[in-house]
Amino acid sequence: MISLSDIVAAKERIKEITYVTPILKSDQLSHICGNQIFLKSEHLQKTGSFKIRGAANKVIGAVQEGAQYVTAASSGNHGQAVAYIANQFNVPATIVVPEDISYCKENAIKAYNGKIEKCGTTSAERLPRAKEIANQENGVYIPPYDDPFIMAGQGTIGLEILDQVQDADAVIVPIGGGGLISGILTAIKESKPSIKVIGVEPEIANDTFLSFQNKQIISLTGTNTIADGLRTNQPGDLTFPVLLKYLDDIVLVSEDEIRKAFSFVMERMKQLIEPSSATTIATAMFGKLPLQGKKVVTVVSGGNVDLDKISNFIVDTQI
Ligand SMILES: *Cc1c(COP(=O)(O)O)cnc(C)c1O
Repeated sequence: MISLSDIVAAKERIKEITYVTPILKSDQLSHICGNQIFLKSEHLQKTGSFKIRGAANKVIGAVQEGAQYVTAASSGNHGQAVAYIANQFNVPATIVVPEDISYCKENAIKAYNGKIEKCGTTSAERLPRAKEIANQENGVYIPPYDDPFIMAGQGTIGLEILDQVQDADAVIVPIGGGGLISGILTAIKESKPSIKVIGVEPEIANDTFLSFQNKQIISLTGTNTIADGLRTNQPGDLTFPVLLKYLDDIVLVSEDEIRKAFSFVMERMKQLIEPSSATTIATAMFGKLPLQGKKVVTVVSGGNVDLDKISNFIVDTQI
């Protein structure tokens, strides 16, 4: 299991690469939620999501040990992050993506000089291919969440929250494979355990919710939530024990609630966030928390959306 010292080391390692992202506030949002809401704004992070933190921590470590090639299997934020950081170190990167990748995502990876290889439509097809290329090229495969360096990198968000929001009572974090929340849990529970950490998943992608209830990893088959960063079908072998040890609670939000939170943030706060991030704001907006009048930090994990899909996410924000 990773510990606080791994996260402190990660912070030092990635500090020249990543931003300390701002905390945004909206009085209207706080009013609606009945709590003081703080948005930890990773949609304003380099590459548009927190994934650069873990990817930088892992890739910098690999480069220091002589790696001259990296690969990843991801159509989304992780692929962009790995392409970006590899480019910073002049290390070639191949990102294995699905055949049906959107042009926005493909363009983003290419803009960071990542080489794109299209392979199948499922992660079960992409992952072995990314590992195979890494082997052929004597390179390193960079996993999206189930890795100590990735988890420690994501945990640097927890350290920043401790610095930026004095006396926070609770932190809400979205869960895909669990890299983000396991890092944040470690940072916060090993520094200030009185802060509650609450995870959120879409109702229709509730693998970690079920696993947490049953205290063992449960795997689900495909889901189509609009929160595409949270479609992972089971928690990781390394991330899940951290949740069992430290997590206070997991809540679920509906697709409609995600759309409403997305639309609220876009319309009222003028921020472009992605549906995966809107889950944490939906948690606060729709009474899922047993908290009133508290300081609540919602982790806004990213802001990468395909522009041509935005109209699918917009609904009337009257709540
Ligand atoms: C990857 C991702 C998540 C989920 O992170 P995990 O470490 O897989 O739990 C949440 N939001 C966004 C925007 C992501 O890219």
